[in-house]
Amino acid sequence: MGTEAHMKNQKRFFETLAIHGDTDRPEPSAGDPVVYPQVHSTVFRMAAEAEDGELIYTRHENPNRSQLESVLASLEAGEACAAFSSGMAASTAIVQALKSGDHIIIPDDLYHGTRKLMTETMEPWGLEASVTDMSRPEHLEQAIQSNTKMVWVETPSNPLLQIVDIRRISNICNQHGVLLVVDNTWPSPVNQQPLHLGADLVMHSTSKYIGGHSDLLGGAVVAKRKEGFFERIRDLQRSSGAVPSPADCWLMLRSIRTLPCRIRSHNQHAISISLFLEEHHSVSRVYYPGLKSHPGHEIAKTQMYGFGGMISFLVEGDRESASRVVQGSRLIAPVTSLGGVESTWEHRIRSEGPGTGTPGNL
Ligand code: PLP
Repeated sequence: MGTEAHMKNQKRFFETLAIHGDTDRPEPSAGDPVVYPQVHSTVFRMAAEAEDGELIYTRHENPNRSQLESVLASLEAGEACAAFSSGMAASTAIVQALKSGDHIIIPDDLYHGTRKLMTETMEPWGLEASVTDMSRPEHLEQAIQSNTKMVWVETPSNPLLQIVDIRRISNICNQHGVLLVVDNTWPSPVNQQPLHLGADLVMHSTSKYIGGHSDLLGGAVVAKRKEGFFERIRDLQRSSGAVPSPADCWLMLRSIRTLPCRIRSHNQHAISISLFLEEHHSVSRVYYPGLKSHPGHEIAKTQMYGFGGMISFLVEGDRESASRVVQGSRLIAPVTSLGGVESTWEHRIRSEGPGTGTPGNL
């Protein structure tokens, strides 16, 4: 992977960062625990006068959460991170940091919960949202309005694994003074680092690959710059309080230590499975950016270090045929969500409900 010169030159010590990426910890000394313990106290003793960075109350800040935020910021090469109790809480904080009357542009294929948040939930708060095919950047130029403040990208997208050229989208956003946010949940930082490609913010559902064991819910926002727009997100994190518990942060950090190994394994398995599916007589189409047949393959090669563990495919037949396939395995559980160590699959339309453009046989 990483066919372009700059990709080769980029130093990516993910294994080390996943374990030692907590840059805020003091120099270790003899007797220190190698694994930082959980700090469940919600309150911390206060000095007579307020001090910079002082710990007072866990909704504001907690040592386990700070450690998680520091490691995630290192993995995404950002200056700062805010951890949340779910991916949707992270996305909500990002849009709440906008103002009433602001306009956001979202891609036509993206996680259906994000689409609902932008187009329905936030509508009464005055957020204006429009939908564009981001795999055709020229469409984005036309969609930008005088009140456009943010462009949201998901690549590879959920569920059709469309690839968006992050560099090109970022150039357009820069020209118009618009913030670019990338939902990096599907690739994880081990396969794609959007801040290196020009994005301003990265959003994660850490419930997926980062948690990695189908037993944790979480979210995060990583910012290229800790000043400016991110300060509003930090403020919302602390004041609205959708924060992860110390135990969840501790477990998330334990998961992250194996993230690079897990992702490389997912990458290897997914390419084998997608090649197998491509040849299968009951499969009419496979969507996987690692396949040469994928329309976004060439762009993916220039911005991804690996193609990820998610594959979509159309089975020959109709909605019922796809449902039968997904119910037909003892080993592969039919579930929504992704990113655990076990193989899972989903008849996607069942989760998305009415109004979705997702094919019934996906
Ligand atoms: N973004 C993507 C790409 C997702 O797939 C999901 C969940 O499936 C989310 C965001 C939402 O994350 P959470 O379920 O942690 O709130």
